[in-house]
Amino acid sequence: MELKYTRRNVFKEADGKELEKIYSFAEDYKEFLNASKTERDAAHVAEELAKKHGYAPFSFSEKLKAGDKRYFINRFKNVFFIKAGTENIEENGVRILVAHVDSPRLDLKPNPMYEENGLCYFKTHYYGGIKKYQWTTIPLALHGVIMLPGGERREICVGEDEGDPVFYITDLLPHLGAEQSSKSAAKFIDGESLNAVVGGLPAVDDEDEKEAVKAAVLKLLNKKYGMTEYDLQCSELCFVPAGKARDVGFDSSLIAAYGHDDKVCAYPEMRAILDSENSPHTIITVFADKEEVGSDGTTGMQSKIISDILETVSASFGANPVVVRYNSKCISADVTGAYDPAYASAYEKRNSTYVHCGAAVSKYTGSRGKVSTNDAPAEYAGWIRDVFDGEGVIWQTGELGAVDVGGGGTVAKYVANLGIDTIDVGVPVLSMHAPCELISKADVYSLYKACLAFCK
Ligand code: MN
Ligand code: MN
Repeated sequence: MELKYTRRNVFKEADGKELEKIYSFAEDYKEFLNASKTERDAAHVAEELAKKHGYAPFSFSEKLKAGDKRYFINRFKNVFFIKAGTENIEENGVRILVAHVDSPRLDLKPNPMYEENGLCYFKTHYYGGIKKYQWTTIPLALHGVIMLPGGERREICVGEDEGDPVFYITDLLPHLGAEQSSKSAAKFIDGESLNAVVGGLPAVDDEDEKEAVKAAVLKLLNKKYGMTEYDLQCSELCFVPAGKARDVGFDSSLIAAYGHDDKVCAYPEMRAILDSENSPHTIITVFADKEEVGSDGTTGMQSKIISDILETVSASFGANPVVVRYNSKCISADVTGAYDPAYASAYEKRNSTYVHCGAAVSKYTGSRGKVSTNDAPAEYAGWIRDVFDGEGVIWQTGELGAVDVGGGGTVAKYVANLGIDTIDVGVPVLSMHAPCELISKADVYSLYKACLAFCK
């Protein structure tokens, strides 16, 4: 019996066959990621995949039977996959997997448009925790939906196809940047300076010369989407980094991309439920929205909708929903900060998670003395360890950074607050919340195996 614990490395233990599986899973993940930059995009992809796997739309008034597969898209942004199992739902509860599909980005303000010095701009209001300086001078794509009068929706995606134009936020040249460089990074770029260039060609036939470029851009938008400037006030549009996920390293062992947080967990948990057809458990997989801004609202994990779905499923089998909840188990699948030797002082190396070392289990999150966390009970942590070890899942555990350096939270506490045993299991990320984040192919695959083991 091994008395000492040693962290394992997935790549070091993988044989040729396993390596092939890791790299092939990464290809599927990149495809999902490229098509899922926003929660709305992810919901589209989820719906397509659900249908392809024989899932039918869910209704709150229906009675499910064992073997039924349903999907529910809550207000275009929040997805539930539901697979009714054969075992007694009251005794065994439901296996719940939750990840979020919103990522930090730049939302458009309701009155975003203005013209200055021959350029037309969109003003933004950042969404989630970003380092503002990282969002200047990079190609940006515009994603979202515009509401026309009468309820007609127009979906927009500009900047992702090779031939598409992109959008751009300027920064000051270093030659004139002495004063800017003396400011702290938090003040380096002001939130009100995050204005993206969206046009420069004036309308020649426009009589109002002051805003000829804005007029021309509006003409283009009207032609393409049938919209006016007024319609922007009832729209949801955001800038995200343009372009696709790329392999990193001569050996292509890592992936750099926008939005790993938290699509790198959403994809494995979705694949796990789709690949668990024969599991006796009732399984629910959730793509949550609004995690980056506090999980509020109709589509966030603080919404009652998860309870409503659990109640509907319970009622289908004549089960008491209170008992079902009490016996349910949840994996809150979210990323954690991987140890970064370049910023070693922010971490505590004995209690950090490391790239290539497998699915990252966090018993608790929070900050300043574990405040505001679901601290998974030892009994549940022990149970999940047995599940993972039983299926050969390589996993590791750690905290998000050193004590009192900072901290963070996940949706775990919102599920746990419903009286459901919950633990955080995710993927370690380098440069989390940057426009381009870095993860290991070994870790996203390990999380998939962890989610599969949980569903088995
Ligand atoms: Mn996250
Ligand atoms: Mn995050």
